Amino acid sequence: MSGQNPVFIPGPTNIPDRLRNAMSIQTVDHRSSEFAGLFLPVLEDMKKVFKTAEGQVLAYPSSGTGGWEAAISNTLSPGDKVLAARHGMFSHRWIDLCQRHGLEVEVIECEWGTGAPADLFEEHLSKDAEHQIKAVLVTHNETATGVKSDVEAVRDAMNASSHPALLFVDCVSSLASMDFRMDEWGVDIAVTGSQKGLMLATGIALLGVSPKALQASESATCPRTFFDFKDMLGANSSGGYPYTPPLQLLYGLRESLDMLFDEGMENVFRRHRRIAAGVREAINAWGLELCAKSPELYSDTVSAIWVPEGFDSNALTDRLLGTYAVSFGIGLGPLHGKVFRIGHLGAMTDMVMLSGIAVTEMAMADLGYPIELGSGTRAAQEYYRRTTSHSG
Ligand SMILES: *Cc1c(COP(=O)(O)O)cnc(C)c1O
Repeated sequence: MSGQNPVFIPGPTNIPDRLRNAMSIQTVDHRSSEFAGLFLPVLEDMKKVFKTAEGQVLAYPSSGTGGWEAAISNTLSPGDKVLAARHGMFSHRWIDLCQRHGLEVEVIECEWGTGAPADLFEEHLSKDAEHQIKAVLVTHNETATGVKSDVEAVRDAMNASSHPALLFVDCVSSLASMDFRMDEWGVDIAVTGSQKGLMLATGIALLGVSPKALQASESATCPRTFFDFKDMLGANSSGGYPYTPPLQLLYGLRESLDMLFDEGMENVFRRHRRIAAGVREAINAWGLELCAKSPELYSDTVSAIWVPEGFDSNALTDRLLGTYAVSFGIGLGPLHGKVFRIGHLGAMTDMVMLSGIAVTEMAMADLGYPIELGSGTRAAQEYYRRTTSHSG
């Protein structure tokens, strides 16, 4: 019965029945007016999720990594300089992608568990009097460490140094779960994927692109074909697609947007905040520590938790999967064997989360962790009971 269990990995997330059903459809001709009638309103509605009125939304058949590539290859030229902080596996992989595109990356090395350092960004930008840095990269939610970065503070740092660089933000594991404001924060490209907050199968990368980023794409010379903004926008302008679209996923996205709007985006954020706070109550009751260094960095979508000295976090996630048929996130890169991660984003409820906390305790007890069975579950129960009137 393992297929009955939800997953607690931070993406791909659990797919609600309503969305699975919406994706289970016969082929529709993507050159028909039916397709255009579906697709154009989906792009418009995605603007509300990105919180952009000025930007365009582009949807590629790809995972989130392709979204990074689309952002970089359309707006930059080989040899261009970009500024980025490395503080987790995802910020690291984005830097690697830039380097493989022939960009020069000015990397600010940060301890994993910290956020994007707005003050250091400002320092680097102020020193760049000739404006050689063409883009600043920020990972809004570092899924490897459970750290949320302050994008607005980075925008303020860019403004304070009067630097004209583009601001690119990875919001793959935050959009549609945590507040994100593309226009207000002056984000030039925001990148997300379908399989996290949007609760869908993997396979659509969504980009919010500002007019300034579109203008940069006019002169950028990195090679691109599949991800070319011009081809995509040209086809989209009449409701078409430059190649075969991921049709079933787009029908799923229509339904996902309806689900999110039915609940209300602010309620969606509140639900994630509250469920995450309950998970942290449990972690605290276990006497364990988060990888995220301080409360303002705590992510509402994923918690990365240090296992006690002398324990192997892989043994814990193996036990959870092998004995209890439920998946949790492993530690990535230097955190391998040292942290495990609880994904609490997307279609998450109190009841599902409590089951995840309870089963984690069972596996920890099996492995001789110094925790009391039921202590974390009880702490989360108390928190959820206390705060339930705020949820939908
Ligand atoms: C999941 C994720 C990605 C994209 O990964 P894909 O596997 O390519 O979809 C990028 N950044 C962050 C922060 C993520 O959590």
